[in-house]
Amino acid sequence: MEYNTTLTTCTYCGCGCNFFLETLDGKLTNTIPCKTSPVNEGKLCIKGWNVHQFVQSDRRLTRPLVRKDGELTEVSWDEAISYTADRLKKIKADKGPDSIGFFASAKVTNEENFLMQKFARAAVGTNNVDHCARL
Ligand code: SF4
Repeated sequence: MEYNTTLTTCTYCGCGCNFFLETLDGKLTNTIPCKTSPVNEGKLCIKGWNVHQFVQSDRRLTRPLVRKDGELTEVSWDEAISYTADRLKKIKADKGPDSIGFFASAKVTNEENFLMQKFARAAVGTNNVDHCARL
């Protein structure tokens, strides 16, 4: 039996709480708040306490899906990205850039959120940018 704890940062929001993820034989089993973290001082909200559960959930989407003939179908990342790029180009050409909006996520880094808004403004040409923290 192999047991480990790994100090890491919560992926759910920008507060950046720290905790230890417990693993037993390579499987995540528990979350333990970090008492020495200056951010959360040993406390977590309900999302942080349960953060270890979504990683191994069998309901988690791990591959891109594209709707084909009304059915969500697993596709490769290359196909999903090409499909999305083609659709964005067509919508922009037909309806203008402000017909497109971008919603960022608290589950990615600040740098990734920065890139998303840069893509929206510089590549697509819209200021329609928002974030799940406001939704
Ligand atoms: S534990 Fe809660 S408050 Fe802390 S980073 Fe995660 S979601 Fe945010």
